[in-house]
Amino acid sequence: MPSPHRDLQERAYEANLEIPRRGLAIYTFGNVSAFDPDRGLLAIKPSGVAYDALRVDDMVVLDLEERIVEGALRPSSDTRTHVALYRAFRGIGGIAHTHSAYATGWAQARLSIPIYGTTHADHLAEDVPCTALMSDEAVERDYEAETGRQIVDCFRERDPLRTPMVLVAGHGTFTWGKTAQAAVYNAAVLEEIAKMAFVTRALAPAAARLPDKLIRKHFERKHGKGAYYGQGRTR
Ligand SMILES: [Zn+2]
Repeated sequence: MPSPHRDLQERAYEANLEIPRRGLAIYTFGNVSAFDPDRGLLAIKPSGVAYDALRVDDMVVLDLEERIVEGALRPSSDTRTHVALYRAFRGIGGIAHTHSAYATGWAQARLSIPIYGTTHADHLAEDVPCTALMSDEAVERDYEAETGRQIVDCFRERDPLRTPMVLVAGHGTFTWGKTAQAAVYNAAVLEEIAKMAFVTRALAPAAARLPDKLIRKHFERKHGKGAYYGQGRTR
């Protein structure tokens, strides 16, 4: 009998396939989940399965207590981080985690990515934040849950719907969106922004941030009340 959550598994499956397609991960690196707030369930990539071997049925469906509802495989080892973010950030329907090279370079340097240009400002109106480094005690305690806490702490004064991405210090990226596809889109955008910022800083180590006026203009024309960019679709 087909799973009653097949649609959610399909959403997660399709979004996971976007990860290698966009060059955001090699081998089994990275994972994406899709969340349905009405059912209170998420579907996530199984642990350690290569993208080209993935099947829809392999997507593991869990509730926010991490009880497996569907699927025979072990869920991604990062599941607890995904769950922590779904609990904390209302209104998101998908999360992607990658170790894409440029963005992870900034995370390893423990630097937020300055908002140098309009490509960045089209997607978020501030620097891409970088979390604090995790303490030894937290690593010991419950690593994946603590990674979630690290991110949530970093968003105490931020709106996760306006800044749908973060660098986890020394580790990699987490991005999210209204859907799993939007989360992967934001992962690809983050990698591109990270690459551009790296080049900018290499050419001009003292490069200035984009002026506030330009940041507002670019962000608001895509995401503000009177948004007029594109054909009316939202991320
Ligand atoms: Zn990771």
